[in-house]
Amino acid sequence: MAAKLIDGKKVASELKVQIREDVENWVEAGHRRPFLKVLQVGNDPASSTYIAAKTRACKEVGIDTDTTHLPDTVSAKELKNVIQSFNEDDSIDGILVQLPLPSHLSAHAVIESIDHRKDVDGFHPMNVGRLSVDQPTFKSCTPAGIFELFKYYSIPTKGKHAVVVGASNIVGTPMAIMLSRENSSGKATTTICHKFTKDITQHTISADILVVAAGQPNLIKAEMVKEGAVVIDVGINRVADETSEKGYKLTGDCDYESLKEKVSWITPVPGGVGPMTVTMLMKNTLLAAKKSIYPD
Ligand code: NAD
Repeated sequence: MAAKLIDGKKVASELKVQIREDVENWVEAGHRRPFLKVLQVGNDPASSTYIAAKTRACKEVGIDTDTTHLPDTVSAKELKNVIQSFNEDDSIDGILVQLPLPSHLSAHAVIESIDHRKDVDGFHPMNVGRLSVDQPTFKSCTPAGIFELFKYYSIPTKGKHAVVVGASNIVGTPMAIMLSRENSSGKATTTICHKFTKDITQHTISADILVVAAGQPNLIKAEMVKEGAVVIDVGINRVADETSEKGYKLTGDCDYESLKEKVSWITPVPGGVGPMTVTMLMKNTLLAAKKSIYPD
């Protein structure tokens, strides 16, 4: 079987056209243009790349944005004060603190200090909690983007066995929550694997839907998946590549070449999940501006 490609780049660009229209309608109705505040601490090059992509997406959909840049020596207290000033600023709809943070700062504490009504990443415990009990919420962008892909390609999840490899707070866990809820989203029977799972193959081999977010290049090979499975590769890994100008190439967590002969649907890396994540951030920022999740 040759897999069909899940083209996240194409779906994301179609969704961005829709979001742009929604933004312009919102502005034409007399509202202030939505505004996303990005906070970067330190100079991690990958973070700068991600922020540049988010800034570009804002421009595409007509959302205003700027980035406040703090040195990596900033104290927890100073950072908290800056976030508090953003929480209180009525011209800011969404706040995004780019992760990872320098090691002296607690990501948990920083995320919790963001007003949950402006938490467009969907990482605040209030939003994750609401996700867990089927309440309207800012959904974590990567899982939300994957669900948009399921919708676009009419890939059913109801009653399927879904396996998520990776249990991080930002991808694996919210993905598993969304897949497993019986009253909204996934309605799938869901297994979540992580680095302590013994023999992940015994789980992945029975997956109708396999979502991999482990950050391990080529972790999933053809012999670990069921014929006809749907494979969503979230991983973005830089691996050395002398033939490329940059000296590296991006690769996912799945061995795409061998899997594509066996599965029914697959996301490429790059061009699969990545563009959807940024697009969902735009959607959440518009929801925040409209106060759709948390009306006053
Ligand atoms: P993380 O490092 O926070 O978590 C990794 C998870 O994978 C952990 O739960 C860990 O236990 C598990 N894991 C690691 N090795 C494993 C193994 N051998 N077997 C089973 N489980 C294993 O990572 P994260 O932030 O969730 O990101 C995961 C990957 O997804 C990274 O490559 C990251 O760059 C990528 N990512 C992509 C997007 C996107 O938009 N495409 C968004 C976020 C993260």
